[in-house]
Amino acid sequence: MTMQYVSTRSPSAMGSFTDILLEGLAHDGGLAFPQAIPQWSAEAIQSLSQLTYPQLAARVVHAFADDLSLETLQSLAANAYTEEKFGHPAIAPLTVLQEAAHSRLALLELSNGPTMAFKDMAMQLLGQLFEYQLKQKGQTLNILGATSGDTGSSAEYAMRDKQSISVFMLSPEGRMSQFQKAQMYCLQEPHIHNLTVKGSFDDCQDMVKAVSADLAFKSSMRIGTVNSINWARITAQVVYYFTGYFQAVNAFGLRYGDLVDFCVPSGNFGNVLSGHVARSMGLPIGQLVVATNENNVLDEFFRTGRYRPRKSAETFITSSPSMDISKASNFERYVFDLVGRDPQRLASLWSELASQGEFHLAGTSAWSGIAQTGLVSGASHHAARIETIRKLHDRFNRMVDPHTADGLFVAQQFLRPPVPMVCLETALPVKFEEVILEALDKPVPKSAELQAMERRPQRTEPMGQDVEALKGFIRQHALVAS
Ligand SMILES: *Cc1c(COP(=O)(O)O)cnc(C)c1O
Repeated sequence: MTMQYVSTRSPSAMGSFTDILLEGLAHDGGLAFPQAIPQWSAEAIQSLSQLTYPQLAARVVHAFADDLSLETLQSLAANAYTEEKFGHPAIAPLTVLQEAAHSRLALLELSNGPTMAFKDMAMQLLGQLFEYQLKQKGQTLNILGATSGDTGSSAEYAMRDKQSISVFMLSPEGRMSQFQKAQMYCLQEPHIHNLTVKGSFDDCQDMVKAVSADLAFKSSMRIGTVNSINWARITAQVVYYFTGYFQAVNAFGLRYGDLVDFCVPSGNFGNVLSGHVARSMGLPIGQLVVATNENNVLDEFFRTGRYRPRKSAETFITSSPSMDISKASNFERYVFDLVGRDPQRLASLWSELASQGEFHLAGTSAWSGIAQTGLVSGASHHAARIETIRKLHDRFNRMVDPHTADGLFVAQQFLRPPVPMVCLETALPVKFEEVILEALDKPVPKSAELQAMERRPQRTEPMGQDVEALKGFIRQHALVAS
């Protein structure tokens, strides 16, 4: 029996992994979630500890994608996770920041891929999975998405060499860092389309939603998505919690089964949801610390049980922009798990959200269940971020990006030696050099290759906030199967 997926909002079956691969959204507006999370024994988990990253990825993903063979996943993972692309044989190496009896802190480097943000960890595998599936079916795919900076870039670099896939990516003009713009807009492949919109990320996202709501257009144009609700991305991210755990066991001289805590800079809640899935499978994770920035909707929830997403006009623009999200799409999957995977209960909470703008869980059994999931939270802010970047540089001669700094700042509040704390590094500092300059008063060292990238000609297509114009552009440029 292959693993089946269900919608979070109704008991409807959505099929197996390859059925939901190209999209995570159900027709009822809910999100795909596995009917049961695989359970692995301590022995089974330990037996994976010596695998290479691609081998481990194939094993973990296979547990959720058993309608693909392990051999197929092994070859796709071997193509996705190469030392050449990730600059390190471990793909996601762990660095210990502090090795004193009273403080045990490490960074798990997830940002050494082609676009220098952790999104590459999932997107590189997604590119392989998409291409494999399209070849099998003799189909083409047109990816439509919106980005605030990192997702779009990561998707485009993962798809640029895929003949059967084109990308239409909306980005908010003037809201990304110089480096992010150069990295995305320098791509010259004719099937990669960077559409710039005068507006915010939410405006871009609304246009994508409007096009996606036109189901006839969507299916005739073969439109797929790679946004953070894509379940395959969540699955691919489960893998590095395992390697992070194994490396922490070695680095801190633990025994298998000892707890390790993780701290995760959060935006759309995809990364930390992957940690929740890893923990649910049996990986000995203790606390899963959710770090937010000034946009602290999730921190408010984990402290009080009150979930009150803000309007986009009330979302702050901060110096950790990839976390400037007030309505975290993957949070729905976590709450679904929390309410005992009862789609009726979930649907009623979400309709309360639609009518009241908030819901409260305090006092319910779901609220008391949160402690068992290990999730705790804290919020960071600009001054804390700057101070953390400075302190880390002074003490360990290590530069971190502003998002990773938010994680490190919040992690300090949850240290409980001798349990080690692994902080996830979600981007490299060079992507956000303006903030580093403010913190350290000196520029981030930049390779000749990156300097050359910034001088390359940029190719963009201006797009008004006009859904019909966007559809027209897609109609004109979409790949169609021959
Ligand atoms: C996407 C992103 C985040 C937020 O990750 P989620 O999975 O959306 O919670 C944090 N930091 C950086 C640098 C990112 O690109």
